[in-house]
Amino acid sequence: VSQFENITMAPPDPILGVSEAFKADTSDMKLNLGVGAYRTEDLQPYVLDVVKKAEKLMLERGENKEYLPIEGLAAFNKATAELLFGAENEVIQQERVATIQGLSGTGSLRLAAALIERYFPGAKVLISSPTWGNHKNIFNDAKVPWSEYRYYDPRTVGLDFDGMIADIKAAPEGSFVLLHGCAHNPTGIDPTLEQWKKIADVMQEKNHIPFFDVAYQGFASGSLDEDASSVRLFAERGMEFLVAQSYSKNLGLYGERIGAINVVCSSADAATRVKSQLKRLARPMYSNPPIHGAKIVANIVGNPELFNEWKQEMELMAGRIKAVRQKLYDSLTAKDKTGKDWSYVLAQIGMFSFTGLNKSQSDNMTNKWHVYMTKDGRISLAGLSLAKCEYLADAIIDSFY
Ligand code: PMP
Repeated sequence: VSQFENITMAPPDPILGVSEAFKADTSDMKLNLGVGAYRTEDLQPYVLDVVKKAEKLMLERGENKEYLPIEGLAAFNKATAELLFGAENEVIQQERVATIQGLSGTGSLRLAAALIERYFPGAKVLISSPTWGNHKNIFNDAKVPWSEYRYYDPRTVGLDFDGMIADIKAAPEGSFVLLHGCAHNPTGIDPTLEQWKKIADVMQEKNHIPFFDVAYQGFASGSLDEDASSVRLFAERGMEFLVAQSYSKNLGLYGERIGAINVVCSSADAATRVKSQLKRLARPMYSNPPIHGAKIVANIVGNPELFNEWKQEMELMAGRIKAVRQKLYDSLTAKDKTGKDWSYVLAQIGMFSFTGLNKSQSDNMTNKWHVYMTKDGRISLAGLSLAKCEYLADAIIDSFY
């Protein structure tokens, strides 16, 4: 008998497991709207032209594959913090941000969780209900206690702002509050700028530490600056907070695992100390982060021509998703004879739409219509083409009623 007899079978991942099931389906009609990965109108994966250009430059220069320092590539760390806050921002000018390269968004969140576990023992992280499924896994594995704050209101398929504020207020003083910087996953519902101000008020009142997860900068609105406005609002107030970043979506670097963790501190001295501890946490986990994606980002951001091209391609990607969202709304409205108001589909932003379908309705989408999606009713519009919108609308209406 095996020494590993006590190890039971783990359940499939609720998001990545959907892709496995999709692969096994032989229907021509099948659609994978599970994982949040951008596809072209032909539903093919997309490598940005600007990424190919940067890689070509790197090859021509004959760059080596030496280890990076524990904190990652210096040019990347500088570029990523400046993209987030703006190069002229006080927090940058005053060197108050501790930035280290992480293993994409997930690894950066995990590192921050390790910092919380070590230096804020017993502190709780508040996460939105619902949230990206991996958040709970990350804090569980880091042994950081978490609880949920109200976010989604199923009656309006909108934001439960009063519930959100009440729950953040009720949390013990000095809690961490995880916020999606833009394009909330899975709902696609973001606070307005006025609401962000009220959220910041409550955070300051309660001495909470905001913890932003920014996985979609530039991908939601098409503008890097606009999508960073929530984070910059908190920076302007002189608050201390954390921000995890990912280049999976906005540069299409999914498998390169490139991102960063930023800790905004009240002094440069505190930032230096925090950075030294982030490095100390990273060393026994993975020693140093991958070099390839870091160089791609640094080369693109550091070259005005490539940087402009990136912005244009990002607008194109964001634009395609917006066009698909509009077409899906139009198809739903035209086909649904009950007069149901589908405008919430249009009000949502980013890669996802929260359809309002429950688990058994989502099962019908998959079993009858070969539409693969997560069981919370989330669909990735980035995996949808204009040509498939009518089919999807038929599937949604059939499943709803
Ligand atoms: N946070 C959120 C909210 C996300 O949606 C994602 C990507 N699905 C991530 C973080 C991190 O993804 P990655 O590790 O690929 O950067």
